[in-house]
Amino acid sequence: MEIKRRTVPNHLKVCRVLRQRMKLADEALRQLQSDEKGFEGECYFDQLINRSPASTYLQLQDVLLKWYQSTFQIDSVLLGPHIIYLFDVKTFEGEFYIEGNRWFSITGKEINNPIHQLRRSEALFCSLIETLGIHLPVESKIIFVHPEFTLYQANRNLPIILPTKLNAYLKSIEPVTVDRSLIEKAQKLASLHIDRSPFEQLKIPSYTYESLKKGMTCGMCGERSVQVQGKNLVCSWCEHQENLETGIIRMVEEYRLLFPNRLITVSSISDWCRLNIDRNKLYRILRKHYEMVGSGKNTFYR
Ligand SMILES: [Zn+2]
Repeated sequence: MEIKRRTVPNHLKVCRVLRQRMKLADEALRQLQSDEKGFEGECYFDQLINRSPASTYLQLQDVLLKWYQSTFQIDSVLLGPHIIYLFDVKTFEGEFYIEGNRWFSITGKEINNPIHQLRRSEALFCSLIETLGIHLPVESKIIFVHPEFTLYQANRNLPIILPTKLNAYLKSIEPVTVDRSLIEKAQKLASLHIDRSPFEQLKIPSYTYESLKKGMTCGMCGERSVQVQGKNLVCSWCEHQENLETGIIRMVEEYRLLFPNRLITVSSISDWCRLNIDRNKLYRILRKHYEMVGSGKNTFYR
């Protein structure tokens, strides 16, 4: 049972749009690709859980919590009547090896030991749930989801689940029945989730309204090669067709995402979309989908 569901992280949404509207530096592109891959891996793991007996647990996906001054994030929490599982999903691909406490990629480049991170989150989590009156043992694991991940010299007792063992591991979790009081505790825990990560801003390249390319983008390929044809938008690049109104709303939502402090007005959206359409038509679409505030020149929508 899902108590908190995974959604596309805000920084990922913003970067997806920025990629279509500015030239991202190589580093920002790499970051975006890695975040996409991470998100995909987490969604894949959610699916595996939902197809296994583990789905009978109360699930909290992607929670960001704070304990005193420390913020920590957990990819997946399963809360049952006798035990809590914490999972950190990794999408590492290729060959890695361990020497002592240190982790290396096959090329010899050292990477952060993921177990240290896991232990930190686990310790903070355990202290936090005590205050919620949850007194259950916690088992945490790093889940490697990429089928082409290989790890050499790994001790069998490490808290890791390799891709070849993942299905068997999830099947080994016995189904449970949860009661009202546990659901309430899980909801309380979910209510502590911090919606905006203090670190997410670091993942977003800086941009201004002026610096971004304007114009309607295609809902399929993302190119700014869209023309109005009657009640539809047609992309000259991939031939995708979209209802004009749906496309405009998609653009307004994009604008809101990138510029939460700018007003939505007929003029601002007209400039953002740069479509050859009548202002009255735009006005009608905005009025239909948003609340109109003010009048005359000072009208805006929210
Ligand atoms: Zn297209």
